[in-house]
Amino acid sequence: MLPDDIIKSARSGEVGYEDALRLLAANPFDLFSLANDMRYDAVGDTVSYVVNRNIYLTNRCIGNCGFCAFKQKEGYILTRDEVLREVKLAQAAGAVEVCVQGGYNPDLTLDYYQDIFKAIKSEHPAISIHGLSPMEVFYAAGQEGIPVDEALMLLKKSGLDTLTGTSAEILVDRVRNIICPDKLSTSQWVETITAAHGIGLRTNATIMYGHVESIRERLEHIFLIRDIQKRTGGFTEFIPMPFMPYNNRTGESMMGRGQYMTGGIEDLQLFAISRIILHTHIDNIQAPWVKLGKKLAQVALFSGANDLGGTLMEDHITTASGGSNGEYTPASELEWIIRESGRTTKRRNAIYEECK
Ligand code: SF4
Repeated sequence: MLPDDIIKSARSGEVGYEDALRLLAANPFDLFSLANDMRYDAVGDTVSYVVNRNIYLTNRCIGNCGFCAFKQKEGYILTRDEVLREVKLAQAAGAVEVCVQGGYNPDLTLDYYQDIFKAIKSEHPAISIHGLSPMEVFYAAGQEGIPVDEALMLLKKSGLDTLTGTSAEILVDRVRNIICPDKLSTSQWVETITAAHGIGLRTNATIMYGHVESIRERLEHIFLIRDIQKRTGGFTEFIPMPFMPYNNRTGESMMGRGQYMTGGIEDLQLFAISRIILHTHIDNIQAPWVKLGKKLAQVALFSGANDLGGTLMEDHITTASGGSNGEYTPASELEWIIRESGRTTKRRNAIYEECK
């Protein structure tokens, strides 16, 4: 049984850090049950997904993240026409959104991004553009010598509808200094995401867990996301992503010490505690099937999650790190997983509006 005082503070959206530690030490099935109740209170029995396609603008990156198996020294950069070809395929397959991402390098200027976004909007006005990470925007703004909010405004004007909340990993500098020392710091990530929310660009929020961070650092991250949301209200969803340890330095060094991927119970505990900490602040917790596998993603719907993510069509980042869950799940299969859980399906866009 979970303590009544903690359940009370959780229901009011004010569960504290020490409470969260106590919840994680409790019987995991009691924790899942509380998170499941809170999921129902927040969004009822509806489970959403988005028909989308990932488009990787480049795999060339000057970053040096230890967990990355995606970047290449001699990689490609898509031209505008190549991007448009992919968007056309996405739309033909019923996508309402393209998720445009890549790495950062000096050839990806703000002009390049704006040109791509304008071309997409001109040829496919109905497609929503979700894309770029705070890292990519922060770097491009720095290259241009302009403030981040100005860069964000230019990107928004050229057609960017929502920014991704990736490059967050764990928002604790001790961890970042180990796994991604060249990436923007915690405070720079917060400044960039806050600036996006400030100009009306909504974002999601992510956590990549299960590598060198401690349980306390995971919690610090989730509480930081809650604090930002209290100030801006700009997050649409929270996406816990377990670290994929294959073909990358961070994973190899972990496995050399006998540490492997997080187990299913640990994953579900993170989904549950995220739901509880973020209750009344962020309604949507995504269980990404591409990271968890379809079966565990379905079980996560009973420990706090209410969304299965996108059809994707491609996921080079996860497969490069040893992901074996495929890169595409058709909408019909996502709906099957949802209905089989006794829930109601909702096809959505990036801001959780229903799409017919
Ligand atoms: S994770 Fe992203 S920023 Fe880091 S090296 Fe890979 S592509 Fe570059």
